Amino acid sequence: MKQILVISGKGGTGKTVITASLASLFENKIIADCDVDAADLHLLLHPRIKQRHQFSGLAKAWIDPARCTGCGECVKVCRFGAISQKFEVDPISCEGCRVCMFKCPVNAIIMKENRAGEYYISETQYGIMVHAKLGIAEENSGRLVSTVRQKAKEYAEKNKADYIIIDGPPGIGCPVIASLAGVDLAVVVMEPSLSGIQDAQRVSDVAKHFGIRVACVINKYDINLENTELIENWCRENNLPLLGKFLFDPLVSESIVQGRPLVEYCDNDVARQVKEFAVNLKRFLSF
Ligand code: SF4
Ligand code: SF4
Repeated sequence: MKQILVISGKGGTGKTVITASLASLFENKIIADCDVDAADLHLLLHPRIKQRHQFSGLAKAWIDPARCTGCGECVKVCRFGAISQKFEVDPISCEGCRVCMFKCPVNAIIMKENRAGEYYISETQYGIMVHAKLGIAEENSGRLVSTVRQKAKEYAEKNKADYIIIDGPPGIGCPVIASLAGVDLAVVVMEPSLSGIQDAQRVSDVAKHFGIRVACVINKYDINLENTELIENWCRENNLPLLGKFLFDPLVSESIVQGRPLVEYCDNDVARQVKEFAVNLKRFLSF
C-alpha cells in the first residue's frame, strides 16, 4: 500500500483539484483530507458521513468559583493573560500549561478536556474518506492531522487498499510535518510565480529533510513560461521528477463551482494532462 501526499508551499495552487482528480482516477484507495484548518476536498467528493468522532485538544484551565478565595495568584502567574480579574479563564487564550493549577493554594483550578474539533469516516463514490474539522481558533491541527492519517491507515489495511491519497495542508508548519510522516511520496504542486516557487521549494526541502521522496507538478504553467523554465531547471538540478504540467483553464474553476473532480467535469487539454500525470504517478510509485 502506497501513501501519496499532495502538498504545496501555499494555499490556492490547485492542490485539492489535483487530489480530487487522483481520487477519481486511482482504484482501490482510501482518501484522507489533512488540510484540517481549511478542509475543502469534501466540496468535490461529497462524502456521506458514517461516523463522527470528537477530537480533544489541549486541556484548558477552569476555575471552580465555589473554591476560589480570590487570592489572585493565578492571574499573576499566567503568562498568557488568560485569567481575568474576576478569576475566569478565557479558553482561547489559555495554553494549557497548568502553571495556575499548581500555583493555586486551594486547588480551585482543574484542567478540563477541550473539544477542539471532529473527525469523520465517510463514504464517497470514490471510496472511504477520512476528514476532519478543527474548531474555530483551535490549535493542535498537527495532532488532528495525525489522527486522520492513523484512521486512514487503519481503513486502508482493513480494506486492503492499494493507495492512500492525502490532501495535505499548505505551508511548512506542524500540520505539514504530521502529513509527511511515513508517506511514500510527496507530490509538490508548484505554480510559476516567484513566491509560489519559493514556497514550494521550502516545502520540498522539509520533505527531503524527513527522507520523503518528492516529485513535482506545475499548475497553470503557461501563465509564466519563464518561471516555468526556472522550476524545470530547479527540478533537474535537484534530481526531482516533474510528473506533470497543467495548462491554465477557466474550466478548472468552473469544475470547482460545480463540485466535481476536474477529470470528470471535462475532457479538455488540462483534464488530459491530469490523467497523464496520474499514469506517470502510478508508474513512478511502482519503482
Ligand atoms: S489561585 Fe486559586 S484561589 Fe487564588 S484566585 Fe486563582 S483560582 Fe482563586
Ligand atoms: S493553564 Fe497556563 S495558560 Fe491556561 S490559564 Fe493556567 S497559567 Fe494560564
